[in-house]
Amino acid sequence: MVVVMRPGASLEEIEGVCEVIHRHELESLLMPGSVMAIGIPSAIPTDLRDPLEQRIQILPGVSKVTQVSRSYKLASREFRPDSTIVEIGDVRFGGPEVVVMAGPCSIESYDQLKRSAQIVKASGATVLRGGAFKPRTSPYAFQGLADEGLRIMKRVGHEVGIKTISEVMSPDMVGLVADHVDILQIGARSMQNFPLLIEAGKSRHPVMLKRGPSATIDEFMLAAEYLLAHGNSKVLLCERGVHPLDRTYTRNTLDLSAVPVLKEISHLPVIVDPSHGVGVAKYVPTMACAAIASGADGLMVEVHPNPREALSDAAQALSPEAFESMMQKLAVFAEVSGRLCTPKRVGP
Ligand code: PEP
Ligand code: MN
Repeated sequence: MVVVMRPGASLEEIEGVCEVIHRHELESLLMPGSVMAIGIPSAIPTDLRDPLEQRIQILPGVSKVTQVSRSYKLASREFRPDSTIVEIGDVRFGGPEVVVMAGPCSIESYDQLKRSAQIVKASGATVLRGGAFKPRTSPYAFQGLADEGLRIMKRVGHEVGIKTISEVMSPDMVGLVADHVDILQIGARSMQNFPLLIEAGKSRHPVMLKRGPSATIDEFMLAAEYLLAHGNSKVLLCERGVHPLDRTYTRNTLDLSAVPVLKEISHLPVIVDPSHGVGVAKYVPTMACAAIASGADGLMVEVHPNPREALSDAAQALSPEAFESMMQKLAVFAEVSGRLCTPKRVGP
């Protein structure tokens, strides 16, 4: 249930609503926005729903009371009508600007990451990506530099002046990864790792949750709900492609129809990862532009200083030149979509 207050409702009026909620041994959650909304996140016994709604409806300062019909609540737009803006320093997800996160699939060395950071920042990306703990299908494939990779990421982020994101795969690593990067990435294969979601929720560190390759939209939303229900409001949703019908030409099927759906049913910012979505570098810029046109709030793109030498996901990594050219194109799509995406020009 969500109680929407009238514009300018007083503190006493807000407290009056909370008091009635607490009297029924229910929790209240204040959600400031263009108007104050008060949510009741836990399940309300069926026989209490209507009487409680009627009781609250007549309280001073109350504009309307709505019942949330979906299985996920905190993540739904019914619960919070205003779009959430996730702010990480001067990077704002969910506002008019399209945020671009870019960098290599894996952190391979200090030099490789530093070079990547300089390249992506010069072209307008504001978040550097790079995996230190890599979820690889084969146990014989490069598994990442682990702790050493995180230390490199932290150092490069500070030296270059760019925010950072890296994947966390297990609940016991949440604290360690959060100490080294600005955003925790929960990978597609971990979307339903519930102990990880709980720990990342409790950490209250910004999280980008990737959609599982076979997850329905509702399963995705319920996974996000875990993060929110455990206290984390800084959650980004990321579409990264679902299992394809045909792997001949692309690695996954980038489900861009999920973007307008997620924007409608949830208040959380939506990111698209066209790199894992298609898995082929030459198709990434086209799908990045399409993602902006579909309403995405941000992109995650793999870029490597020398794609042929990449230790993971080499086929989908953009070269510095391809990334720069993609950023120029994105600005055009952003403008016609009523968004901002300002590529920085390299050189004078
Ligand atoms: C990645 O971002 O490098 C990654 C492993 O992504 P996903 O979880 O989407 O496969
Ligand atoms: Mn990758």
